[in-house]
Amino acid sequence: MTRKEKEKNPRKADKCNEEKRVKYTALKGVHDILPPDIYIWQKAESTAREIFSAYGFQEIRIPIIESTDIFARSIGETTDIVEKEMYTFPDRADRSITLRPEGTAPVVRSYIENHLYNLPSPQKFFYSGPMFRYERPQKGRFRQFYQIGVEAFGTAEPKLDAEIISMLKLFLEKLQLKELKFEVNSIGCSKCRPDYKKALLNFLSDKVSDLCPDCSRRYINNPLRILDCKNSSCAEIRKGSPKITDYLCKECKSHFEEFLSLLNILNISYNINPDMVRGLDYYTRTTFEITSPEQLGGAQKTVAAGGRYDRLVEEFGGPPTPAIGFAIGMERLVEILKALNSDFCIPAPKVFIATIGKNAGLEGLLIAEKLRSKGIRAELGYDNASLKSQLRRADKLGSNYVFIIGDDELQSGMVKWKNLKDGSQGETGIKDATEFKGLY
Ligand code: ATP
Ligand code: MG
Repeated sequence: MTRKEKEKNPRKADKCNEEKRVKYTALKGVHDILPPDIYIWQKAESTAREIFSAYGFQEIRIPIIESTDIFARSIGETTDIVEKEMYTFPDRADRSITLRPEGTAPVVRSYIENHLYNLPSPQKFFYSGPMFRYERPQKGRFRQFYQIGVEAFGTAEPKLDAEIISMLKLFLEKLQLKELKFEVNSIGCSKCRPDYKKALLNFLSDKVSDLCPDCSRRYINNPLRILDCKNSSCAEIRKGSPKITDYLCKECKSHFEEFLSLLNILNISYNINPDMVRGLDYYTRTTFEITSPEQLGGAQKTVAAGGRYDRLVEEFGGPPTPAIGFAIGMERLVEILKALNSDFCIPAPKVFIATIGKNAGLEGLLIAEKLRSKGIRAELGYDNASLKSQLRRADKLGSNYVFIIGDDELQSGMVKWKNLKDGSQGETGIKDATEFKGLY
């Protein structure tokens, strides 16, 4: 910008300067979570803690880095995550390390390593934190994103599957989200799935050349994944394909039926989606997703997803232990909460202490410190700001009260107070200021 242009348009000039100041930017697909959004995050997190605890889930904190083979073996070598999305690097001792792309495999590793299977079953855990996937960043899809997830070990009873869905429903209701839909499916077990795979391969055998390049590969190494390919021509080709739910063995069929009947008893509406196979290899029987309507979620409509993984603990070397879990994509959840304009309260100071002069400033500091020690949020003016600008800041911060202390007040031993919400005002003794009843 030229100087003349700057004088003409000072706002634009400011912006120009601001941009020049940005020397470092966050990596692609990685984002900061700032106030006021952070309050939506905190609300969602604290609600999850409250609801999940009521169902007996205990927090577990798992490392962010693990040995690469933990993910490669469990998620599956031919899945999108392992084939192209993992952040994998050699450490200084040339071990292959991966930034966790999901939480289930680390929790299973921990469950076995810490012999948690010796505790009474079922053992139920939740975790919360960042996951990393090298994906093409777009709305609802990041390279570092956050999940809250749960894993429950030790029972195959469909009652647990239904309880977990019910827990998710309650969690969403507490956040005033009633618009989300539950999709459920059963993808059978190692006994019945091979028959289904055969039937699917048979159905697709003369259509392989019309599938997208990814699905042509999947036809060979992971045919079930063809069912959830988002490509519209693949969706067309799939029409009329055999349904996995028609191929379930007796045990899987009765497990699925009992699960569905419990959902009915619990008054949970759902939609059976036989194409929902989920992207990870470790799933067995129950799978489910929570999706948002188009207008809320945009392109990425799956907010939470999960399922049973009855064989994974054993495959990791542990005792045979049926298990089930899910993960909520926090960015997508928060996006919906924002779109719905849910009323999340942003904490504001209870009192702003505006002071004039050094001595009053000291008195204000002492009052603020006493109030803070009682857990009351108190803000102060700084840098000899004028009373007017201090009051402006108090207002901007949404303070409930202002206390004003100047030389006159110091002399009389009084503090002026004003309630910024209803305009009432008065005086109270400096010594009693920390007991001022409006603050409690
Ligand atoms: P998608 O089909 O959207 O790629 P996925 O099957 O890979 O999802 P899961 O591994 O089941 O996802 O993870 C559970 C949830 O985590 C997803 O439903 C989504 O809400 C969220 N999630 C997954 N990948 C990302 C990402 N890259 N950015 C933001 N959220 C994500
Ligand atoms: Mg994915």
